[in-house]
Amino acid sequence: MKKMVALLLAAAMMATAAGCSNASNASSAASNASAAGSESAAAASDITVGVCIYKFDDTFMTGVRNNMTEQAKTLGAKTDIQDSQNKQPTQNEQVDTFITKGVNALAVNPVDRTAAAPLVEKAKAKSLPIVFLNREPEAEVMKSYDKIWYVGAKAEESGTMSGEIIADYFKANKSADKNGDGKIQYVMLQGEPGHQDATLRSKYSVEAIEKAGFATEKLAADTAYWDKVKATDLMNNFIASQGLDKIEAVLANNDDMALGAIEALKAKGYNKGDKSKFIPVVGVDATAPALAAMAEGSLLGTVLNDAENQGKATVNIAVAAAQNKPITKENIGYDVTDGKYVWIPYVKVTQDNYKQFQS
Ligand code: BGC
Repeated sequence: MKKMVALLLAAAMMATAAGCSNASNASSAASNASAAGSESAAAASDITVGVCIYKFDDTFMTGVRNNMTEQAKTLGAKTDIQDSQNKQPTQNEQVDTFITKGVNALAVNPVDRTAAAPLVEKAKAKSLPIVFLNREPEAEVMKSYDKIWYVGAKAEESGTMSGEIIADYFKANKSADKNGDGKIQYVMLQGEPGHQDATLRSKYSVEAIEKAGFATEKLAADTAYWDKVKATDLMNNFIASQGLDKIEAVLANNDDMALGAIEALKAKGYNKGDKSKFIPVVGVDATAPALAAMAEGSLLGTVLNDAENQGKATVNIAVAAAQNKPITKENIGYDVTDGKYVWIPYVKVTQDNYKQFQS
């Protein structure tokens, strides 16, 4: 009997060592972790992660969702992904259904990040791990349960980077200050009110322009709810109320809205290749259509919001947590802050490097 226990222990230790030495990238870390974990850990193939996405009709979240599906396949786990259709009550029901069906972990992109607490209560009642993504629950909610994690990106970073892109453009193009008053007159298209990315990108983009030595003047700012069509309408309003001559820069909280604004500009003959008719527009996300707009020269720049690594990290955490593994870099392949947060870095995307983000 003793010999048997010793043998088992040795085997477990060897497996753990193999797991650590190979944990060089995200997917191998998580799959090694599943091979190397405690003997009671469920196999990844026995794990289903119930996923709610705030709405499928969102370009950036579609990228994250596709990467989640891919990563689950890589790990051999299953996902059940539901469209919450931008309705919090629908999402609450979806979580109830997941719990009834017996999923092993939840991954939730909340519709309303301030309404995360009831979802946490539901998970807690069943001792189910819950990973939030992209829309950050309030700090007290994050502290209210030991099996809760958040995967996202520091919104202030993306704001700063998009502001720097604008500032660099004005440094290199003196005539971009069309009225020569030494100030950058801008309009801003904002994401959904209450979303941390909308609030912080709006604030930090302007701060970065000012830190670079420019005075700024906000001509107009409003929400277009992350949406391209709404952004075209809003930009048309800005053009009508301000006049195209006055607008010197367009700051958009995401690429879909930047592209919507560009549609409105193009309809007025702007951003179509004539250098004297160009207004710099910046977005955030580095979606495929935004990179294409950079290639044609209608979009000045953007910031990579890393859908691939956000998707992978979310699935790695959900699967590892369902296997009762500690959520550490060794087990999930990503740094973990305060035991609960995985922050995926943003990357500035300019004319110099955009090609490396095109697939
Ligand atoms: C993205 C937006 C997206 C939003 C959804 C943001 O991080 O930049 O494109 O619409 O998340 O919550």
